[in-house]
This record gives sequence, C-alpha cells and structure tokens, in this order.
Amino acid sequence: MAKIVDWKHIYYERQLATEAGERIAQAYNFSTPPVDPLKIIHEERRLIHAVGDDFGDAFDGRIKYIGPRFLICYNTRYDTWPHTGSHHSKVQFTIGHELGHYFLDEHRKILVSTHTAHGSRTEFVSDSLIEQQADCFASGLLMPSSLFRPLINKKNFPSIDEIKKVRQSFQVSLIGTLVRWTQLSDFPCATIAVRNGVIQFGWVSEAFRRIGAYRVLRGESVEGRAFRRFSGQDPSFSKYRDGSGSGVGLNWLDYSQKRLDTLEHYFVIPYTKTIWVFLIVDENDLLELDL
Ligand SMILES: [Zn+2]
Repeated sequence: MAKIVDWKHIYYERQLATEAGERIAQAYNFSTPPVDPLKIIHEERRLIHAVGDDFGDAFDGRIKYIGPRFLICYNTRYDTWPHTGSHHSKVQFTIGHELGHYFLDEHRKILVSTHTAHGSRTEFVSDSLIEQQADCFASGLLMPSSLFRPLINKKNFPSIDEIKKVRQSFQVSLIGTLVRWTQLSDFPCATIAVRNGVIQFGWVSEAFRRIGAYRVLRGESVEGRAFRRFSGQDPSFSKYRDGSGSGVGLNWLDYSQKRLDTLEHYFVIPYTKTIWVFLIVDENDLLELDL
C-alpha cells in the first residue's frame, strides 16, 4: 500500500518551527543581518556546551542532553570550502539546526527523557519530520521575515546575482536562501531539488498556492529542454555552476489549468549532486486565475 503523507500536517509543523526560529532571533535582538547563531550559543552557555570540530562524515551536527547541559557538536569540515565570515554557511546553518532541537519543546523533551544523542543531516536533505522542523527553525532564525522579506520583494524576476547578494548579507547558504525566498515571496516562484534528472522535493510560494498549484511533481523526470541542456553540460557534478533558462510550469508543478511560462535559474551543488531550480512566473499571468 502506498504511504499516505499528510502534507497539511507537515506544512503546518514546518511553519510552526520556522516561526519559533524567528521568535528566537527577535528575542536575542538581531535587528540587522546576519544573525549569528554562535552569539545565541554564547548567551545560552550555562545550558549549552558547543564544540566545533572536523567530524568527517559522521554527522553535520549532533546534540545530546548530558544533564544539566546540552552538548552540541557541529562539523566544521565545511570550513575548508571557500566562505566569508568565521564559518562556512553550512556550518552556521547546522548550528541553527541544532539550536532548533534545543529550543523546540518537543525536541528538547525527547532529548532530556532519552539522554540519547541525536545526529543531524542538515539543510533540507532529510525526509524525517524532526529534521525538517529543525531545518525550518534554522531558516527562520537565520532569515527572519522582518529582515528578509523587504529585500526579496522588490521585483518579480530577481537575477542570480541579486539572489547571491541577499545570500551574502545573511551569510547563509544558497539553498537556505532559495527556500526562504520561496516562503516569503509575494511573487509566483518555486524552489525545486532535482537529482539524477528526477524531482526530489520542492516548495512553492503563496502566489502559486492561491491558484491551486500546491505541489511540485515529486518523483517525475524533468522534461524541460533548457534544464536538460544545462544539466548535460557537466554530468559529473564536479563543481558549482549556475545558469538560467526558460520553460513551462507543467514540467515542474502539479498544475495544468493554464500554460505558465517560466524563468528558471539553475544551481549545481556538487556536495549533494543536486541541481536546485529557482523557478519564476510573471505575476500578471496569474491575475485572472487568482480569484
Ligand atoms: Zn537534527
């Protein structure tokens, strides 16, 4: 029997976790980007002991309750990758993710009652709800809507350089930026992960949801010609690269009511062998559908 997934429940839980992250950013008085999660760790030093080290492939982050304190380990192996700031954005996100396990009530209760270590794979690579919640918490914490929203809603069609600029000011990863952008955009856009030519998962913005385009075509092969051309340029995924193309919405979204022309930005992330697609539609194309 096929597994039944309660999307509404998952969406709601992700939303709650994101808002919890935003509240923590506010509580610790971050009024301009970037939000530095290590400052929060420092403030919480009576209850959190944090250790950053190269833990190889073991985990991205790890948290354990050792009473009365929590021990957080974060993997700094990614610091060997080029970055600005004291840590690579992947490391910063991981610290935010582990703070999610610490600040989210249900997560903390489990850690305290079981005394077992929780190992994390961070940044939207895990299917588990617990991990998705912690990722969403990190996203809300590092990119609170009050700081992020004004920067991303200036225009319908941001360029790749404009996206990178926002990413840089928040010192977050490109993927974190794209996911958050989609959540907070006033325009019709989507962030979609593709591996081996197949759509893995993705998010759509509120403007798409309003016309009934809720879901990306998870599990489907990507048919778009521009995407295939881009993807075929370096099938080895040996290095980061990006590019743009155009296509149609029905290659990506569970929506066939109207042909929607898309602008598509492509980003190759070699570490996960994934191409992330940021897809944008002209808001005027949705006008008569948005009733
Ligand atoms: Zn985790």
